[in-house]
Amino acid sequence: MSELVLDELWSKTIEELINKTSRPTVKTWFEEVKPVGFFDGVLRLSVPNKMVKVWLEQKFHYLLLKTVKGFINDLKQIEYVISEEKIKTIKTTRFSKSFSLYKKISLFETNPATNLNPRYRFDNFVVGSNNELAFAAAQGAVNDSEAKINPLFIYGGVGLGKTHLLQAVGNAIIKRHKNLKKVKYITSEQFTTELVNSFRNHSIEDFKAKFRDLDFLILDDVQFLSGKTKSQEELFHTFNILYDASKQIIFSSDRPPSMIPDIEQRLRSRFEGGLVVDITPPDYETRLAILKIKCQERNYFLDERIISLIAEKITRNIRELEGALNLVIFAMKSKNLETLTEERINELLKDYLKQTYKKITPKKLIKVVCDFYNIKEADLFRKTRKMNVIKPRQVVMYLLRELTKMSFSSIGETLNNRDHTTIIYSYEKISKEINTNVEFSEEIKLLRTKLAEE
Ligand code: ADP
Ligand code: MG
Repeated sequence: MSELVLDELWSKTIEELINKTSRPTVKTWFEEVKPVGFFDGVLRLSVPNKMVKVWLEQKFHYLLLKTVKGFINDLKQIEYVISEEKIKTIKTTRFSKSFSLYKKISLFETNPATNLNPRYRFDNFVVGSNNELAFAAAQGAVNDSEAKINPLFIYGGVGLGKTHLLQAVGNAIIKRHKNLKKVKYITSEQFTTELVNSFRNHSIEDFKAKFRDLDFLILDDVQFLSGKTKSQEELFHTFNILYDASKQIIFSSDRPPSMIPDIEQRLRSRFEGGLVVDITPPDYETRLAILKIKCQERNYFLDERIISLIAEKITRNIRELEGALNLVIFAMKSKNLETLTEERINELLKDYLKQTYKKITPKKLIKVVCDFYNIKEADLFRKTRKMNVIKPRQVVMYLLRELTKMSFSSIGETLNNRDHTTIIYSYEKISKEINTNVEFSEEIKLLRTKLAEE
């Protein structure tokens, strides 16, 4: 088929698509799509990026096939190829951008109205093949387009950057709209807790109003809603109201919607109704780039050799990558060393890996914290309000939550039947303190390292 015929075919297809969907939809998804060949019944379309490719495959494939078949009878298949030029420019600009736009992190605090922490941004998120689709979709959610991806569902294992990406969307929206849009980031666990509290305080109407009034709802870790019928029901209604009003909704989960147990079918189908994208563990190059950006954020210089050793050995996830980096930096700082031998680094990383595979139990955690603060374990469980016990107790609550992922209520049970609201209060108090007090944050880092060493 000649180029001319192909172009003509394509403009007819576009017209037809506008009739069948809408102009904004076609503008959003097809503006940069071009036919590049027709051979053996296969029409080849060039698309600007992976996100458009996946979106067309998931949402428009059948409609496109039908439409084009109306013009070419012997059409068998449509293929989408990402334009080569685009791939190159995106890769290079993204990387240089993430480094040059880097701002020094210091005392970042979570905004209580939005729950957003300004530390999580697009410009300090390293893009690799493991997350580029999720990254592109998250960026897409920030742009106002009439045909947006809604909802966006991002899933992947622990420590792979879901929360970072979700929060980056929220922060970008706030920046772009100067607080004119109502944005809320919330974990599914917090959502559930707030809902339960609102029942208890007879303030369910306030709860509903608060969520139904948002422009952007960002809900993290929805796998937590498994088996929580009331929360699911409330989310379902909130979702429908926001969705019908064209408000953006973004979810994350540690697994795809189909694999979350005990979720009502109607909610699952909402999760699946937009774009579902995954994040996988980063490859070696991405791990290197992440380590470099984390060193910059800490204002700490590590030589290339050390960075590549860490990137080679720590492969499972980025949280572990950061943990290993902290450990190496800590080992150097505490001994006032400029560098470490390869042997020493290998030893450190080997130990680190061994430890992270060992599960941290509540018992062990309590022992380490008590040893660290030099208090008796029995005092921790007593209902004493002595200053020297209150702080370690709150640290225990915080670390249990962070490192074992126990629920607030079971942490309460473990610590002599304390109410879960006490645990949440302590957790928040410690989180805040970490963000505002550099010394204290070093203390917690050290404790984490100790726990890993135990
Ligand atoms: P998840 O929510 O998937 O468990 P997080 O978003 O909490 O993971 O990420 C864990 C840590 O790794 C965070 O400190 C985050 O900033 C960092 N991180 C994850 N992915 C990236 C990335 N692509 N670039 C830079 N940092 C990342
Ligand atoms: Mg997370």
